[in-house]
Amino acid sequence: MHTRRVRTQSTEEVAFPAVGKFCVVPIGEVAESDLAFARDVVEASFGRETLVCEPLPLQDAYYYPERGQYGANGFLRYAEANAPRGAYRTVAITAQDIFAADLNFLFGMGRCPGKCAVVSTYRFGFYCATPERRMVRFAKLIVHEAGHTFGLLHCRQRLCIMKFAEGYETLDGTKLAMCGRCERSLCAVTALDADERRKDLEEVLKEHGLWEEVGGAEGLAPPPAPADLTPEKSLP
Ligand SMILES: [Zn+2]
Ligand SMILES: [Zn+2]
Repeated sequence: MHTRRVRTQSTEEVAFPAVGKFCVVPIGEVAESDLAFARDVVEASFGRETLVCEPLPLQDAYYYPERGQYGANGFLRYAEANAPRGAYRTVAITAQDIFAADLNFLFGMGRCPGKCAVVSTYRFGFYCATPERRMVRFAKLIVHEAGHTFGLLHCRQRLCIMKFAEGYETLDGTKLAMCGRCERSLCAVTALDADERRKDLEEVLKEHGLWEEVGGAEGLAPPPAPADLTPEKSLP
């Protein structure tokens, strides 16, 4: 983890503890272990102290009974409207199934650029999912959707974490790493150090017993930038 500077807290930080921090906000009931993992992944990937905040209750307004799913756009707006005061970024996590427009389901959605992203854990446990694979899918989606908030678009490099994953095969085929180009964009916006970021991520993955599943050091090594640099398609 990054070494945290010792400093005194401002009045604002005492009154609003999320100020300047990355926040993980559950929408509805979400397993504690998933929230703790999400916090660790966010903290390592984006080099910011990360808080798990009080859950936002599920709201019928975002539910589509004929589909049995919630609207991803609605959840994103809900998370944006209720983000903890002063938060640097917010990643909302839901265990509910979400969809948008003509897509049957979505793994997640991020505002590009923006302050909020939403990730659904509903689908990760399906389709050849060992517990380890489920967690790695979860980590990839968190980084992907939060990546959008820093202005990163979809990437054409099939190994890049910013590749749009419409299904499990694409998702499982990406690395838990950004290609050289996406990584440079992220580091330019956030002033993160790419090597330090990788080291932090390695630590978290080892802690959670996912080092092998992720493919070890090779799994975190950035693939080359794609030959075709135009973004693939727009959101989610
Ligand atoms: Zn990329
Ligand atoms: Zn995306």
